[in-house]
Amino acid sequence: MSREAPARFAEVALPLPVATGFIYRIPEALAQRAVPGARVLVPVRGRRALGLVVRTDVPLPEYDTREILSAPDAEPALGEPLLELARWVSRYYGAPLGLTLRSVLPGPLFGAAGSAGKGAEVSERVVTITRALPSLLERERAFARSPKRRLAYEAIEALGGSAPVRQLAERLHVTDAVIAGLATQGLARIERVTRTRDPFSGLATPPPPVLTDDQRRAILAIEGTPLDRPVLLHGVTGSGKTLVYLEVLRTLVERGDGAILLVPEIALTPQTVARVRGVFGDQVAVLHSGLSDGERADAWWALRRGTRRVAVGPRSALFAPVLRLRAIVVDEEHESSYKQGTTPRYHARDVAQVRARLEGARLILGSATPSLETLAQVADGRVVEVGLPERVGARPLPPVEVVDLRSAPRVENAGIVPWTEALDARVRAALDAREQVILLLNRRGFSTFVQCPKCGVVVECPSCSIALTLHRGPEVLRCHYCAHQEPVAETCGACGNPTQRMGGLGTQQLEHFVALRFPAARLARMDLDTTSSKWAHHRILERFARGDVDVLVGTQMIAKGLDFPNVTVVGVVDADTGLHLPDFRAAERTFQLVAQVAGRAGRGPKGGRVIVQTRSPDHHAIRAAARHSVRAFAEAELPLRRPPHPAYPPTVSLARFVATAGQAAQAEEGARRAADWLRRASAERLGGALTVLGPAPCPIARLKGRWRWHVLVKAADGRALSRVVRAWRAGPRGRGGVVVDRDPVSLL
Ligand code: ADP
Ligand code: ZN
Repeated sequence: MSREAPARFAEVALPLPVATGFIYRIPEALAQRAVPGARVLVPVRGRRALGLVVRTDVPLPEYDTREILSAPDAEPALGEPLLELARWVSRYYGAPLGLTLRSVLPGPLFGAAGSAGKGAEVSERVVTITRALPSLLERERAFARSPKRRLAYEAIEALGGSAPVRQLAERLHVTDAVIAGLATQGLARIERVTRTRDPFSGLATPPPPVLTDDQRRAILAIEGTPLDRPVLLHGVTGSGKTLVYLEVLRTLVERGDGAILLVPEIALTPQTVARVRGVFGDQVAVLHSGLSDGERADAWWALRRGTRRVAVGPRSALFAPVLRLRAIVVDEEHESSYKQGTTPRYHARDVAQVRARLEGARLILGSATPSLETLAQVADGRVVEVGLPERVGARPLPPVEVVDLRSAPRVENAGIVPWTEALDARVRAALDAREQVILLLNRRGFSTFVQCPKCGVVVECPSCSIALTLHRGPEVLRCHYCAHQEPVAETCGACGNPTQRMGGLGTQQLEHFVALRFPAARLARMDLDTTSSKWAHHRILERFARGDVDVLVGTQMIAKGLDFPNVTVVGVVDADTGLHLPDFRAAERTFQLVAQVAGRAGRGPKGGRVIVQTRSPDHHAIRAAARHSVRAFAEAELPLRRPPHPAYPPTVSLARFVATAGQAAQAEEGARRAADWLRRASAERLGGALTVLGPAPCPIARLKGRWRWHVLVKAADGRALSRVVRAWRAGPRGRGGVVVDRDPVSLL
């Protein structure tokens, strides 16, 4: 007679939008393996899926349960602190635990069963430019009889010097023969490539041999700060923050401990990655979006098993399973890319504080332009500020010249390009001296809208309430919010008027203008359009670093972290592009963007200067950026976020409830119900702790075919928001169609 042990049950989370996990029986044979944090294969809805055990103290369920099929790993995938962190994220942001775990575990490890294999290797033909045509004249000669070939040549150039043939042909609507023609002409070579080399694997920049006195002082100050107090490393652009992080990390990695370094976007920060590799070599796992599923899984397990000790990556690297985690660094902590735009809508900088606390790790936030949220924590003593007040080598910060676009003289024939004589002279002088120039314009495309001069109608996206952007090469109208594109119509769709007017300057048109104005200059453009292919960022930055490019034109992508000593002139062509957006962070974003891009100038012995063109020269964001002073900005901006003005973070905690629906009335109704519920919850349960604003249409009233209305909720104390977010989530499923975005970074 055998006596069976009482059956045990586990709650298993699956990547599904449900509030609680599913209950499964744990078979005897898996008793050792099916513990909290372990991955298990379970039957669900007629399929098999990889889930994660979140609890095993589950009481005997009242319904029939199925059995866990298997547990693939000898040790649990998630240790207790990471599981606890996932629970915290789920509670704080009001996201189902299963969906939260989808961010914590890399794709191939969770959810779809059987996809954990290696990513497919691709074999494709790649065309690479072998002969540069540095001047406009040479170019005209080379392509006198083949404008299509020129189109292809310049597209490859814009993509960083090489591109897959098929992708290029499709994009440009040309035949392969056009591209082959470039090879015949001796301008390019075409070869079959089986696999794109991971450019990060070979990068390593050795650290500078000696720390500066400021750096040494900063390291001592950080190491002398109690572990439970986060540090803000507030260093001006070019002050050598990276070396400070690396020295702090080195001490602990040498003892066998682990660390995480977060960067805003890995493709944009190859220099930082190279520096990390230069110090830690093979101890580093670089977690970037270019990894195949298999590579990603391998990197994850290497950290989990301790064969690698340092994780570097964007936002999601915060969840890397680093063993003995003793430090987390969030570089450029003010960057909004640390906030995830889909469920769970977490902010990696804020979650980093929680993880650091749970694991006893030190947290270092670094920036030259810290967020107001972090400055507020410094002010009330929760975060310790450590400063690097000067650039390395006592180089001065570049002087910033603010040019008033309303009155400054412009060069002739500039059309809609706000090209002033002041900017022109600086750029010319730099080029004459063989120095490099960065031009920032935070709008891509050729023209930002197309309008009928007769009736005034602007061509909009059929699915979004957004003007379509005109792109050239090939000419097409594109929506920057969804995938929609359409040909440019000859006549106005509203009144039939035969001519259409293009307005609004984008980077393509700026590049075109600069090419005509400085025909001998070698240009490159860096924006979403030129960086869609794998490693394109990297190739463009490499050419710039080598000195093969004189002028780099780009969107906010070129404002981040770049360190090129030969850049002596930075021009902000139009600082106002984001200044008047209906979002309380518009001024802060503008300040950060202008101050950051200004910080790219004058990093070498030749010095540098910055020209900021604006129609709002007296705006506090512009004035503070011109002084490289976040203090000046905060002093002017903070009072605007407190009564008598409408209160906004960091003065209050904020959450946004966005209702979306196919019909405008439904979205409005959804938002109204949310607002009513929130007002009642505030009055009945929270003693009126919440301020509820709305419902109101979102500034972008329609997106991807869905109408959008929102409600804003503010509270002096974040805990009141936590309670209300939790209560909302626990409510009926009818609350679908409403997205809760806590601590939103955008209100558009
Ligand atoms: P930040 O991130 O603060 O803008 P970086 O870390 O990019 O600054 O450093 C700016 C430049 O100074 C880099 O080129 C870096 O290599 C150099 N640098 C940093 N520390 C030192 C040092 N101790 N000695 C010499 N050069 C240094
Ligand atoms: Zn659209």
